[in-house]
Amino acid sequence: MDDLIKRAAKELSETKNAVALTGAGCSVESGIPPFRGKGGVWERIDPDYASIEKFMSDPADVWNVLIKEMKDLVDKSKPNECHKGLAKLEEMGILNTIITQNVDGLHQMAGNKDVIEFHGSFAWQRCMDCSEKCETGKVDMSEIPPRCKCGGIYRPEVIFFGEMIPPDALFRSKQLASQCDIMLVVGTSAVVHPAAMMPVIAKQKGAKVIEINMERTPLTDDHISDYLIAGKAGEVMKGIITELERLM
Ligand code: NAD
Repeated sequence: MDDLIKRAAKELSETKNAVALTGAGCSVESGIPPFRGKGGVWERIDPDYASIEKFMSDPADVWNVLIKEMKDLVDKSKPNECHKGLAKLEEMGILNTIITQNVDGLHQMAGNKDVIEFHGSFAWQRCMDCSEKCETGKVDMSEIPPRCKCGGIYRPEVIFFGEMIPPDALFRSKQLASQCDIMLVVGTSAVVHPAAMMPVIAKQKGAKVIEINMERTPLTDDHISDYLIAGKAGEVMKGIITELERLM
């Protein structure tokens, strides 16, 4: 792992045009479980709970089983070494943008300024009737599902399975993927599309794809990633930053 960390740091030191694609694995060391993999939410909860069909048919059930738990976890969580390392890469002028599938806001809290929230943001709730938005922390939770002043039900501003990716996020992500020199793919199972297409686009356009994950993914197996640094995202990112600081 140490050799690969050194290799990644060296390659990153030679570019000012890296982009990161991040997933739930980035936030595991902040106490937020991923959906898939060991300790993932789907070991306890039916993945159907993340579908728009399920939410529309029984919003109270989805709030009770999935959204309340997510709210508690996001309220308590703080950026870890992975988020801080990516913020440092932006500060060093190496990383341009993070395309994140996460909805927890931790990249922004760590200091990254250009973050594309591919699957929306948990920071806000939107009324399904009048579309008024309310900060998640300010939503009155005494009734489930929580309701807006107009009586409509609040839903998180996230993309449920079965919903469209915001067109501007998709357009910009594709553009960045096709123009970057290096794509860092951190803590994503790379099975949720179209997010998982971004490293494929980057590779096709000649970028290096560096994966950081505890496990192999379809990107590893299909040789989309040039190499996999197998380890915890926080530990690996910390190693990369230490090495970069030595090099620069
Ligand atoms: P995922 O749950 O499908 O996969 C998580 C990946 O992270 C796995 O490949 C796993 O091996 C890896 N991983 C786990 N712990 C890790 C660690 N410490 N270091 C490095 N890698 C680690 O997540 P995904 O690929 O992001 O896609 C699923 C969906 O999950 C996304 O749409 C996202 O919106 C949603 N999600 C987001 C959050 C969050 O915002 N924090 C949490 C759970 C799920």
